[in-house]
Amino acid sequence: MKPDFEKGGGLLSAILQDAHTGQVLMNGFMDETAYQKTLEEGMVCFYSRSKGRLWKKGETSGNVQIVKSMALDCDSDALLIQVEPKGPTCHLGSQSCFGDTHFNLQTLDRIVGRKVEAPEAGSYTKYLIEEGTDKILKKCGEEMTEVVIAAKNSDRDELIDETSDLLYHTLVLLKNQGVSLKEVEDNLKLRHGQDLTYKVRGEIDEW
Ligand code: AMP
Ligand code: ZN
Ligand code: ZN
Ligand code: ZN
Repeated sequence: MKPDFEKGGGLLSAILQDAHTGQVLMNGFMDETAYQKTLEEGMVCFYSRSKGRLWKKGETSGNVQIVKSMALDCDSDALLIQVEPKGPTCHLGSQSCFGDTHFNLQTLDRIVGRKVEAPEAGSYTKYLIEEGTDKILKKCGEEMTEVVIAAKNSDRDELIDETSDLLYHTLVLLKNQGVSLKEVEDNLKLRHGQDLTYKVRGEIDEW
């Protein structure tokens, strides 16, 4: 499938999404030249409506956006690009042009990862990692038990709290075991018969 540039008066809407966390980063526009340049370079290029020229995202800031996958929408007039951002995508300094309100398990996993790689004094994650596998396993068991008790007591607030504890400790355990959250997500997708390759079609297949 080829993008339909005509519908948008020569421009295609291109939405950037963090390939890792799923956070929506920005919306830009591509003319055919910007689209071809994006395919060639593997980095996102737009047509800047204000500058009236080809604009490689990150050309001055260095915050380029590495293309991981691309998908056209149902009628080929919008493009979803999953990227690895090399720095904040918004020129105002935040990760996303839509504000940094995005939070999911991948976001938490990334935070846990940073605490493991660059531990700060007093960090609970650092403490757990240093204590090692048995300590982490003990905590996971305890938190699961607390989840069960909360559910048994029909205590919603407690259930939310304890499930949060359990998910966090599970992420720490995965780190301790060298398994990534992505591998678990991929496995869940497979179980539900979902194709792991993003909706890649036509010439975008090159990615
Ligand atoms: P950059 O492409 O990151 O080197 O930024 C160059 C210029 O493009 C900035 O000074 C802004 O004028 C504009 N710009 C960069 N990123 C964005 C964005 N996410 N949304 C709107 N304008 C942007
Ligand atoms: Zn559309
Ligand atoms: Zn912005
Ligand atoms: Zn707990």
